[in-house]
Amino acid sequence: MTLLSPRHCTLCGPDAGKRVRFAPNFEAQDLNAAVFSARRMPDRRHFQLVCCEGCGIIYSDPACDPAALASLYQASSVNYDRQEEQIFDSYAPVLDRGLRRVAKRGLFLEIGGGTGFMLRYGAQHGFAEQLEIEPSADAELKFRPAGPAARFVRGMFDQTLFEQGPLRRSSVSLACFFQMLDHVPSPVELLRTVHEALEPGGIAVCVTHDTSAFSARVLGERSPIYDIEHTYLFNPANLSRLFAHAGFTEIESFAVANRYSLRYWAHLAPLPLGLKRSILPALERTGLARLPLRLNAGNFAIIARKPPTL
Ligand SMILES: [Zn+2]
Repeated sequence: MTLLSPRHCTLCGPDAGKRVRFAPNFEAQDLNAAVFSARRMPDRRHFQLVCCEGCGIIYSDPACDPAALASLYQASSVNYDRQEEQIFDSYAPVLDRGLRRVAKRGLFLEIGGGTGFMLRYGAQHGFAEQLEIEPSADAELKFRPAGPAARFVRGMFDQTLFEQGPLRRSSVSLACFFQMLDHVPSPVELLRTVHEALEPGGIAVCVTHDTSAFSARVLGERSPIYDIEHTYLFNPANLSRLFAHAGFTEIESFAVANRYSLRYWAHLAPLPLGLKRSILPALERTGLARLPLRLNAGNFAIIARKPPTL
């Protein structure tokens, strides 16, 4: 049985006011490894969600404690093979913008990227080494190196990586994390660790859901971003502040369009499960399911720099 514990805003701390945005809508048995598998069918279960009165970050409170979250992610399976190419195509243009700002092409690091298929971007763009750090054992089994200098390290992205050796401080030229920051127990701790891992002048590239996006505002609680897995949810303004708080400079944010097939858009759509189960086979029968479509689904990117040493 997983116990819930209180949370506070990752940016403003325990003293900031908060108000309830959405009441919880789940049962205790929802807290199993299946719920925490990447890219499963969204079903809009979530903890109580509160909004910080200081910065507008929306977060789960109370929620299961970090140790329980870590063990659930270790046991989670990775089941988005068919979407890998589409996810790659969606985030490569974001990495292109980060690439224009990197000074060196040493170590390319991705955090929480499942089977590590984005490492191909680092290999193709001349980074000397590529490293995936991800907690899922299933993802490690499915890891296919993008080249001779690509590695996978299984674990949570925290200080133990420096202490136990797989990652050196100030060694990373570009660190990227896509749809991951909203899953971690302490986003500010994660950003500080990214900052430590980066070499002076190194670049962080992040994509996450936008609580201020048109889709999130129109759908309200029906938006798929309000999900039991999403511990903290941001908008460009408060996430820029969080990056600054963690020591980053030259912070830019912009909206990100995803290029997915109609099949995957239908899978993600905030429709009742019954309706979805009848639409998906129809799309497959007519051949429409494979049609690629680039849409702004309410994600944004942040690119930021660790200050160069003077
Ligand atoms: Zn706050």
